[in-house]
Amino acid sequence: MSNYIFVVGGVLSSLGKGVATASIASLLEEMGLRVNLLKLDPYLNVDPGTMSPYQHGEVYVTEDGAETDLDLGHYERFTHTTMTRDNNITAGKVYYNVITREREGAYLGATVQVIPHITDEIKSLIRKAEKGYDVVLVEVGGTVGDIEGLPFLEAIRQLSMELGRNRTIFIHTTYVPYVKTTGELKTKPTQHSVKELRAIGIQPDVILCRAEMELPDGIKDKIALFTNVDRSAVISAPDLEYIYEVPLILKRQKLDRLIAKHFGFEFKEVRSKWEDIVKSLKEAKRNVRVALVGKYTSLKDSYRSVVEALTHGGIANGVRVDVLWINAEDYEESALEEADGILVPGGFGERGVEGKLRALTYGRVKGKPTFGICLGMQLMCVEFARNVLGLHDANSTEFDPRTPHPVIDLMESQKNLQRMGGTMRLGSYPCMLVEGTKAKDIYKQDKIYERHRHRYEFNNSYRKAFERAGMVFSGIYAEMDLVEIVELRDHPWYIGCQFHPEFKSKPFDPNPLFVSFIKACLYSRSR
Ligand code: GLN
Repeated sequence: MSNYIFVVGGVLSSLGKGVATASIASLLEEMGLRVNLLKLDPYLNVDPGTMSPYQHGEVYVTEDGAETDLDLGHYERFTHTTMTRDNNITAGKVYYNVITREREGAYLGATVQVIPHITDEIKSLIRKAEKGYDVVLVEVGGTVGDIEGLPFLEAIRQLSMELGRNRTIFIHTTYVPYVKTTGELKTKPTQHSVKELRAIGIQPDVILCRAEMELPDGIKDKIALFTNVDRSAVISAPDLEYIYEVPLILKRQKLDRLIAKHFGFEFKEVRSKWEDIVKSLKEAKRNVRVALVGKYTSLKDSYRSVVEALTHGGIANGVRVDVLWINAEDYEESALEEADGILVPGGFGERGVEGKLRALTYGRVKGKPTFGICLGMQLMCVEFARNVLGLHDANSTEFDPRTPHPVIDLMESQKNLQRMGGTMRLGSYPCMLVEGTKAKDIYKQDKIYERHRHRYEFNNSYRKAFERAGMVFSGIYAEMDLVEIVELRDHPWYIGCQFHPEFKSKPFDPNPLFVSFIKACLYSRSR
């Protein structure tokens, strides 16, 4: 039977609860425990796939093709556990299941209610995750006090009663603001949010205090006193330069030891592998600058996995990667000149497309390392058709359904869809790499698996013309003969992929395309 750690939050959202949860999981893994992680999201969307990145940040895609919360990306980057569609439970999914069952007549005449039917469904979805794991970490999205979060908090309260207090730990993440005018850290919001939590029957075991700085002892004492939590369980989580420092700061305050003791596990002190990652980030003597040309650049979380994957590519090359955020709708060419490489990430909709095309032309003509991901790869093909093949009106049918040259087009199976949610080409697909290409040289494998999230594909009727003009199709999904990777023959590094390589990149296992891209940027910088 598994043990459970429930992570809830108060005071503010966006406190980095996901990173904290993932960090704790990684420390438990380092102790030799098997961990699983769940994210509970109280909103009514069945999954975040239909939400704008402005609302929600990036949509993270799992191996099995689920569109999930970006915190699952942190879970995979920090641990060895592979996420599936069962690791993200939204209120929408819970209600959908219950209402579907009600329509089938499964409740035999009962009045269907939030308690017990919704809470029972939440509990049963949570417990599906425990088989084969020593500890399941369950992160509840939102903050304590939100109306829609209540059934989730009630469900985990019930679970802890059923499992027993020695098998469950509640961690409450709060914010301790620093008031500049008086030079003080204030504990009142934390006190209030713990009060709120206790009012619904949950006494936290650990308080994780986010703050601009480390908490002095006096503040920790005060929080312990007012929240009825052991002094050693008030943990300081200050702002840090890199998220990969979080496990270390928690370990230094012995949170791993506290958890082991609570569950009755033998505690082994090990040197954390995060020490090396943080060291290589902090001691990097050189840097490269990557221009990220996107539409959602005002909310950095929209490109979370891309930025992390760039960092991983940097770690592998011993350099720091500085991202230059370029708003595709409004930028000067000089912004691209400053960069050592250009990255055009995935995206949907027409806004910013012309600016992205302009950046790709620049990268192609100037011989600057250029990386196109998903929409970025599709636009590489549009740009090539227009400016190299001279097909001036070439486009993706996503942006111009009547273009005379639909170099990017829908597959037949995608043409008459009635529904938007969950109907793209999603999740892991195999890709065969072609001998003698850069892609093959980079991955050093014949067959790779990468994750997808898109509707449109390269239109194979243009393949010959592209090849004659110097575009190489270096990765193919053989079963359906779909183009997965394109590269320019006569360019140092101009590569586009239809999949999202960023989703599988980890600090200890960086994605090869990102490693190679950063290496090319480094080379272009030193030239
Ligand atoms: N909008 C494009 C498509 O649906 C690209 C999607 C993406 O970049 N993830 O095919």
